[in-house]
Amino acid sequence: MTLQQAKELQSWVPIPNDSDFPLFNLPLGVFSRDGEAVSCGTRIGDTAIDLSALQQLGYFDAIDLPDDVFMQDTLNDFIALGKDIHRAWRKEMMVLFSADEGRLRDNEAHRVDALFNVREVEMMMPVFVQDYTDFYSSKEHATNVGIMFRGKENALMPNWLHIPVGYHGRASSIVVSGVDLHRPKGQQLPADADAPVYGPCKMMDFELEMAFITTEGKPLGHRIKVEEAEDYIFGMVVFNDWSARDIQKWEYVPLGPFLGKNFGSSISPWIVTLDALEIFRSNSPEQSPQPLPYLQGKKDATFDINLQVDIEPQGCEATTVCRSNFKYLYWSMAQQLAHHTVNGCNINAGDMMASGTISGPTEDSYGSMLELSWKGTKPLTMKDGSERKFLQDNDTVIMKAHCEQDGFRLGFGEVRSTILPAIND
Ligand code: MN
Repeated sequence: MTLQQAKELQSWVPIPNDSDFPLFNLPLGVFSRDGEAVSCGTRIGDTAIDLSALQQLGYFDAIDLPDDVFMQDTLNDFIALGKDIHRAWRKEMMVLFSADEGRLRDNEAHRVDALFNVREVEMMMPVFVQDYTDFYSSKEHATNVGIMFRGKENALMPNWLHIPVGYHGRASSIVVSGVDLHRPKGQQLPADADAPVYGPCKMMDFELEMAFITTEGKPLGHRIKVEEAEDYIFGMVVFNDWSARDIQKWEYVPLGPFLGKNFGSSISPWIVTLDALEIFRSNSPEQSPQPLPYLQGKKDATFDINLQVDIEPQGCEATTVCRSNFKYLYWSMAQQLAHHTVNGCNINAGDMMASGTISGPTEDSYGSMLELSWKGTKPLTMKDGSERKFLQDNDTVIMKAHCEQDGFRLGFGEVRSTILPAIND
């Protein structure tokens, strides 16, 4: 479908002008009502749609779906069905909810069963994440952090332009938007000290990232080639990779991030599929030197997705501190996945792979406080006049992502969570 066709797709469900969720989007998520009835669902405008109800009412009879595939507290089973089924579902939904289709539109009893205002539902973790990988794919971010941690001469490690660098992170501490986290505690080496201290992190940071969620992969030993990699990517979310910089700086040599990262990561609740993003496809940056053949993919391997980070101090209006774009990333998702599996490593439906901090070329496009405040030397001013080198207790971080072209908008909503004071134990 072209951008023009997507734009012309009208629904009988009302869609506010600035909505991230036109009929063309059809993101997938999991929500509960009244704290109990849990279902997989989608969203059009401000309407949350219970897919398990629609399946029970017979609206998906033409698709080869297992019984109760949506009556689950995760999307893993649906994701594992593969792209042909996802596309058949998407097509069916576009017909069912298009303006001139009356089957559900004119059936009030069915609408009452399946359609809810988004404010009446509580969004939950959309997938069970068995494995989580965090890449480090922004050249601007890697360069900035390299300069701060190692100096200008050693900013980019010799492997960086040849390998989509990554590490295995902690899957079970990934939480959905709205879940607040406590400031972590750990070891830090204060400046000019020769012994570490233990206490609450003093350099609490966010990382603006996006993550992709994989479909069922191949058996151990088999690789996913760069040209087929997108077939194994179900969709994307906005990802906040919370980072305790002082803990990270002291611990990261030689094995990389550990307690500076594993206390929590936050995601936006709706998974936007690559099929919905397709009309916003964009070229990746030129790669020089040319990567090894197994990493050479198509040029337009990324998507034009506007990103924004706001900090909302307690009781104060939010201040936008960063505007970036997913297309700045040096390594594409296809290259990341091809690299991840080139040694025969397996992937599962519901695995999450985060991009790494997405910094752009300008100082207002840096995707972390570490870079925005340049290690605390250039504090940011909030709308209430207070300053931030890093995050303070009770600061809320809000990340948003959307695509827009020719007046047509499609997006992810937001991931929002608050840093609570450290637990005093
Ligand atoms: Mn990260």
